[in-house]
Amino acid sequence: MSKWPLGVFASVDAGLGVKLEIASEIGVPIIQLHAPSRAQRTAEQAAAFTKRLGEFGIELTCVFGGFDGESYASIQASQETVGLVPAATRAARLAEMKDIAQFARRLGCDVVALHLGFIPHDTQCDVFREVVAVTQDLCDHGQSLGQNLHLETGQESADGLLAFHAAVGRDNLFVNFDPANMILYGTGEPLEAVRKLGPLVRSVHCKDGKWAANPGKEWGQEVPFGEGDVNARAFLVALNEIGYDGPLTIEREIPQDPQRQKEEIGAAVSLIERLKKEIL
Ligand code: MG
Repeated sequence: MSKWPLGVFASVDAGLGVKLEIASEIGVPIIQLHAPSRAQRTAEQAAAFTKRLGEFGIELTCVFGGFDGESYASIQASQETVGLVPAATRAARLAEMKDIAQFARRLGCDVVALHLGFIPHDTQCDVFREVVAVTQDLCDHGQSLGQNLHLETGQESADGLLAFHAAVGRDNLFVNFDPANMILYGTGEPLEAVRKLGPLVRSVHCKDGKWAANPGKEWGQEVPFGEGDVNARAFLVALNEIGYDGPLTIEREIPQDPQRQKEEIGAAVSLIERLKKEIL
């Protein structure tokens, strides 16, 4: 695969991604896939999806897990509901992530990713230790399937993520770097963060956003890639500096407006193609 193949975030019946047909119309060679609902995660569905990918000439690079009951309505709602941090749903969601990993394996995909949730900053507290343990469990399960686990950025600062990665201590644990999320959650300047995380960055989202008036207390605003505060060109330059040569997966979270979503992703493809020529 050539350096920085372009992709889009896609979905089947759940999540915020575009349909496979749209990815094909946009003309990208790769996708990340939001994991479909449980009823769709069968061997038959995996075989059918693999066949469609082959027909479209699209390669799957990552399966993203997500769960019923997650809410991104506000930063506080996401703290209370997202990922493997909330204690009440942790065991069931761990089991579901393992099922998603099995589905990814059926699709021949060796990367699984998720929003882990808001990891506590206090590395001595019980919740931090519990989230480390559940992540070790998930990494070890992934290891048995020949898979890496990528943590979506956003809820933690780069330093917080580095401390958590060190505490987990598994060599198949990496980062899916989403520069917009650093801004939307108010967790740090994304270019500085990508340089700090360096070799841990194994996949990225090309997504953009604008800082909130009160970062960390209220959401920033997601906007088309190239139109926000990320600085698309500087982001790609920073990726080049850290030696990142993996996929650039465009994410635009406006599934309620699929026509606009398709147009804006198409514009992002054009922008990135131009920047690639300038930078590489
Ligand atoms: Mg993302």
